[in-house]
Amino acid sequence: MWRPQHLIAGLILLLVAGSACKTTLRPFQAGRDGKVLERTTEERVILRKPCRLYDAYIPDQTVHGDLVPERVIRVNYHILNSRDTSHRFLAEIATPYVRELTRQINIKLANNLPMSLPAATGTPVLPTRMRLEIAPIPQMPWDDGVYYHFDDDLFGYVHTGRNRNNSDMQVIRKYAIQPDSVLNIFIMPHHPDSVASPTYRATGTGIALGKAIKLAGLIRTGLPPSEFAGMTLHEIGHVLGLAHTWRYSDGCDDTPHHPNCFYPGEPPCDSLISNNVMDYNHWQQAWTPCQLGKAHRNLSRRTGTARSLLQRDWCTSLPGHDLVISEDETWEGEVDLYGDVEVMPGARLTIRCAVSFPAGSRLLVHSGATLVLDGGSLANDCGLSWQGIILECKGPRCGTVQITSDAEIRNATTLAGGQP
Ligand SMILES: [Zn+2]
Repeated sequence: MWRPQHLIAGLILLLVAGSACKTTLRPFQAGRDGKVLERTTEERVILRKPCRLYDAYIPDQTVHGDLVPERVIRVNYHILNSRDTSHRFLAEIATPYVRELTRQINIKLANNLPMSLPAATGTPVLPTRMRLEIAPIPQMPWDDGVYYHFDDDLFGYVHTGRNRNNSDMQVIRKYAIQPDSVLNIFIMPHHPDSVASPTYRATGTGIALGKAIKLAGLIRTGLPPSEFAGMTLHEIGHVLGLAHTWRYSDGCDDTPHHPNCFYPGEPPCDSLISNNVMDYNHWQQAWTPCQLGKAHRNLSRRTGTARSLLQRDWCTSLPGHDLVISEDETWEGEVDLYGDVEVMPGARLTIRCAVSFPAGSRLLVHSGATLVLDGGSLANDCGLSWQGIILECKGPRCGTVQITSDAEIRNATTLAGGQP
């Protein structure tokens, strides 16, 4: 028989069940919420090693494209001339010329070619995910990133003979602009004293010197910028940490040795012709997965030699770049994110290296999901604040976080420190 007390009991049960299933969000506190993950020194060495290897930085090989995003490398140009302006490469010609050179380089970067060497047949052709942008000095509206210098002592380039100066840094030290954050490209005439020698070859040539490049032969040959895009890209490859491939080991298994033929010709140059960017050839337009992995590693790692040349577009969020983790994943490279991360129930996200979160973003760990911070660091790489780790709780059951003692969380508004 129905009685009023049955209704009361039922209401109480509903209230209890309702509060047990109530969903709340709360900031992660390492001391309260983090389960300590113990690692021996040996384990740490082994587990952190992939952060330094190129494999995790190969474009299109990661679960999410954003883990190896398109990188914008900032460049500027310096046009060297004698004080009498005898090398007729003045602003009305040179500025459009270097803009077109930049455009031609970007066309090559956007159109990676299959490797032409027979031994490299079948090598995957991946997007390079890199492009150049001319970078004037910020807050200087009149600056276009192309600079002119008239200097009788330093204008000339000499790549052979006793007056050889191609590796000399003086012109770079004197004229480089934003040298720590922009790739400075110097376009120089071959020195007339050397050109006067019948044995001197005043052809297109260049050299990479740290975060600067010196190029010569562009003016004298009179050829269009497209003819020098490969040569310039080759030197940029050196700046990105790549080595020549044809004779010695460059640390890549997918760049076979070959005779380094510039053009097709007599055997062995009838078939063994490379089109790889790091060889000497007419095309210089093919990048292997290993070369791309190495370049992106040096652009992505916080200690990467070329990272400072990047446009820092990861400081704040970009629409449409939130990541949803719905299956188990391990991030083994250093990453710059452009949005929030959400670890879904049943999924486990393991992070071993440095990850930058955009300002104001959050890493949400749902109830039933697991985040493993196995070393590495979570921070905004531009020194801005981000929300930090947020746990979803369903009643007493919250998202799980396991954290090693060497993992770090910085710049998070919800967390004072990251040590468990
Ligand atoms: Zn080279």
